[in-house]
Amino acid sequence: MSNALIAINEELRRLQQEGVEHVFVEDSTLSLLKPAPTSKPKAAEGPAKGVISELASLAEGKEEKKKKATAPTASATTKQAGKPLPEQPAQFELPEGDPAAQLAWLKERVESCPTCKEHLSEQGKVVFGTGSVDADIFFCGEAPGADEEVQGEPFVGQAGQLLTKIIGAMGLKREDVYIANILKWRPEHDKPSGNRPPTVEEMNFCLPYLKAQIEIVQPKVIVALGNTAVTGLLGPDPSRRMGSIRGTWKEFAGIPLMITFHPSYLLRAESQTNPNAKKRLVWEDMLKVMEKAELPVSDKQRGFFLPKS
Ligand code: URA
Repeated sequence: MSNALIAINEELRRLQQEGVEHVFVEDSTLSLLKPAPTSKPKAAEGPAKGVISELASLAEGKEEKKKKATAPTASATTKQAGKPLPEQPAQFELPEGDPAAQLAWLKERVESCPTCKEHLSEQGKVVFGTGSVDADIFFCGEAPGADEEVQGEPFVGQAGQLLTKIIGAMGLKREDVYIANILKWRPEHDKPSGNRPPTVEEMNFCLPYLKAQIEIVQPKVIVALGNTAVTGLLGPDPSRRMGSIRGTWKEFAGIPLMITFHPSYLLRAESQTNPNAKKRLVWEDMLKVMEKAELPVSDKQRGFFLPKS
């Protein structure tokens, strides 16, 4: 295997360890990585296949592999490619009224946002966010996936079902918390399946919407789910490593921000020898969140995902 392939393989493994949910790979790059058809790979060349499957699993995520039927059509995915996004006001002036009325106003505004609507696939909806306007905990993901854009609700696919279980383990229901994404539409791409992470430009376009949601809800804690959400909230930083910042407190808009792995990272860890080790890390982050939000924590909850002695 060439040094370049070894380097890519190592980088992908590092990113996976860091909790990066997926990387987007151009078809042209993938075809370069595929072994030439005439040169049948020998056993010693096996790792090249590893690179391809690493790319496939990082690019698609375990949960996405089953979703080919719901993937956007090529015409829908390419129609906005390369078009610069318009300027947004850094902050929205919210109308007078109680928080519920303000949130309803904002939802209407975001759902009718022409830029968001332009990026939708034929069956897609703008995904504003869901939950209680009085929520103490605000979960923030990156962008809707295939299931979310069809249902118009964040975190309803496999990763979402895991998030719902995590919320349940905290003694709460989805309706008790608030759940939203940085990006309000599903990022288009021309692959038959999988998700593309939003670009910084896309996230910056939608960030004022998210800021307004947070301003209205006024949660005690925000939870950033995964590396892309962290980049959207805190800005890009190439030296930032999920492995180092996971489980630490930052701040967004003056509100404590807990950084944890994305649920789809935990789904991928299911196939590893000790999936509970990763679940425990996320659970320890959630225990910190519960304490910050002044929720009761039982001894039983404290012990979730610990190795049995
Ligand atoms: N992943 C996200 O980050 N957000 C969703 O809504 C679904 C999956």
